Amino acid sequence: MGNFRDKLVRFLYGRYGTDHLYYFMFAIWIIISVAGLIVRHPVFYVISIVIMLLMIFRSMSKNIEARRKENAFFLKFFNPVKREILLLKDRIRDIKTARYRKCRHCKALIKLPKVTGRHTVKCPKCGGKFDVRIIF
Ligand SMILES: [Zn+2]
Repeated sequence: MGNFRDKLVRFLYGRYGTDHLYYFMFAIWIIISVAGLIVRHPVFYVISIVIMLLMIFRSMSKNIEARRKENAFFLKFFNPVKREILLLKDRIRDIKTARYRKCRHCKALIKLPKVTGRHTVKCPKCGGKFDVRIIF
């Protein structure tokens, strides 16, 4: 058993492993696989196999620099989307008590108490003043 473990450790040594792109691909793979079970069209199976092979290839790759660049490229597009999703979650959570507005000067996001009407807001980040209207 120790011999097998040594061989496995030697095999995995220097391999890239998992990253954000890997987990994203895994989530897409699950969605495609479940869709394939429901729709039962061969294109879903082909796509899920391609995604699985890419995941295995990337995690077993020894070209760490290339995989790291792929992940950085992915994160460049994924992080803004993730930020918007988290912001939407906050907006839904605070819907009864607060409203979010962007500063006209520095684009910082400001959480305002939910008080209907027109207000002049001073940005806590840059100090710039601007008008906001909270309708409901
Ligand atoms: Zn500002």
